[in-house]
Amino acid sequence: ALIVFEGGDGAGKSTQVQALARALRAAGRTVTCTREPGGTPLAEAVRALVLDPCHTPVSAQTEALLFASARADHVTRLIRPALQRGEVVVSDRFVDSSAAYQGTGRGLGVDSVLALNEWALQGLVPDLTVVLDVDQDTAESRRARRGLPEDRMESEAGAFHRAVNATFRELAARSPERYLVLDAALPAEQITRTVAERALALTAP
Ligand code: C5P
Repeated sequence: ALIVFEGGDGAGKSTQVQALARALRAAGRTVTCTREPGGTPLAEAVRALVLDPCHTPVSAQTEALLFASARADHVTRLIRPALQRGEVVVSDRFVDSSAAYQGTGRGLGVDSVLALNEWALQGLVPDLTVVLDVDQDTAESRRARRGLPEDRMESEAGAFHRAVNATFRELAARSPERYLVLDAALPAEQITRTVAERALALTAP
């Protein structure tokens, strides 16, 4: 089974990937942990290229194509072979991050980015996508309590992250049967327990 974690920066995804892997291994599953952008040597090289400030600004189209090609390598060389060996693959980010960051954040459109990625995915759909939802209202009200002016609350960074989070929730609403949306502010152990319960039900030992 393929289980992926999605969410904005700082939602606690990497902690949850490791905690879920421990819970699944304790229950006898063989687990491969991975991440995007990255996961294979080629895809990690693409990640380093795109995040390298000497290539900034990377155009939205270039970024979407490079991340999609990195994903094709990740799917072909790491994810599919692991699934064929009967392992559980747990990924820190997957295609929904492209829909959110390149589709919504950088304005290419969610459906165009999903269409581009169909080619990279070759029919692969995660069995479970966990969205760790960072509550933007809480973030905003905290900024307001600190007395920041209205225009700062509507800063580009704030709007970008609100839009990214809204896209994760929108994708979850499109296919609720294969999503789990959890408040990232919940205690980490509670998130792990809830996800592990769903993941164990999905994966035979
Ligand atoms: O999840 P992680 O922190 O490793 O992501 C690295 C950076 O890449 C983050 O700042 C994230 O916002 C960005 N990213 C992106 N588009 C993606 C995936 C990640 O811009 N498709």
